[in-house]
Amino acid sequence: MKIDFATASFKDFEDPAGLDAFGRAGYFNEFLDYLEGEERLNYRFETVSSAGPVVDLFIPAFGGKGSYVSLVSNDYLGFSQHHLVKKAAVFGIQYYGTGTGASPAIGGHFSFHRELEEKIAAFFRRESAIIYTTGYTANSATLLALIGKEDLVVTDMKIHASMFEGCMGKNQKTFRHNDLEHLELILKDARDKYKTRFVVVDGVYSQDGDLALLSEIVELVHRYEGYVIMDDAHGVGVIGETGRGVIELDDLYQQVDIITGTFSKTFGHLGGYVVADPELIRFLKFQSRQHLFSVTGTPASMGILKAIELIDEEPEWKDLLWENVDRFTLGLKSLGLDIGNTRSAIVPVKIGDMELTNKVSRHLLRAGVYANPIMYPAVSKKDTRIRMSLMATHTAAHIDQVLNAFEDVTRKLPIRRVEEV
Ligand code: PMP
Repeated sequence: MKIDFATASFKDFEDPAGLDAFGRAGYFNEFLDYLEGEERLNYRFETVSSAGPVVDLFIPAFGGKGSYVSLVSNDYLGFSQHHLVKKAAVFGIQYYGTGTGASPAIGGHFSFHRELEEKIAAFFRRESAIIYTTGYTANSATLLALIGKEDLVVTDMKIHASMFEGCMGKNQKTFRHNDLEHLELILKDARDKYKTRFVVVDGVYSQDGDLALLSEIVELVHRYEGYVIMDDAHGVGVIGETGRGVIELDDLYQQVDIITGTFSKTFGHLGGYVVADPELIRFLKFQSRQHLFSVTGTPASMGILKAIELIDEEPEWKDLLWENVDRFTLGLKSLGLDIGNTRSAIVPVKIGDMELTNKVSRHLLRAGVYANPIMYPAVSKKDTRIRMSLMATHTAAHIDQVLNAFEDVTRKLPIRRVEEV
């Protein structure tokens, strides 16, 4: 079968008919070579510096090493570079070594893991937590372990891929993004058909930066005797008076039945967590296969313990982040760009055309700005965009450099403006 490379996306190469696994890989390699030749492969650039607000990238097509303002990191408060976080991680390695050597049930459960579980549970004013080696696994493994044959999982259509993976092979239905009427229809129909009904939402949605209508969703789901699972990977540290995320806005700490998240963004490290009632957490510790049969996080995760404390000890980072978000979103809006409905540190500029999105991304790179083009299937083809994340450690000068680059883009490329949307 022949795929038109000019209009194709990665999804077209997942399982084209008539090829074995090696044939599929070979054909996909041809496509990647084509994209590279067309300067359209804007992914997996090599970073050769630390992951701060400015990074050095090594891009052969751009003559090698260069310096760029980075808008690709989810390290919102800059904690991966904080001296106290680094010091705690280094202490962890010096005291315990570089690895734990075993999965948690059979020798890999250390005191810093227990401390981390206690600390992240307390952070959300709850009793119990389990930690995983990535946020992705926390989500997928938890759903895989919890949803039984006679249960149903209902997902907002814009939740993260890791949650969708946890729904594989399960009874699953999807509701339109934040559409309460649609969700109610599904819950009404499901009431007497399934033993448990879980509803999965993100706190902050990762492509648009908009928020779940959490209090309305919690009320609705509980009215229909279901349970809410919320992944607030992008809300923690960013949203709420004390940075607890979307849950804090309406004081829903005890109402969201299961809270999940990651240590890879605001906490500046790697790993995931699930916070819920003690019995459910204990069940997961011995029934969630990806936890049970996989090695535990390294001693460097002691850095996370410090990062959790810093959210309360140094709230100024969140204030700086929001100063940056405000400066940036105001600037983009004044250029007439469509940034959608963001309420977080994720800022999309919607372009709505694959080719043009690529061109904008390259144009920004040439202006010393590193930002990700987001394409189908991550978003629909008419919804392609440049997605950016702000950090507390960006300076006003960094942000102005990015705004100037966008101003130049609007002069040189037929990028859509809000009035035209
Ligand atoms: N949930 C959301 C909403 C995410 O955006 C991501 C990662 N991009 C994850 C979960 C997975 O977390 P991690 O990268 O830490 O595995």
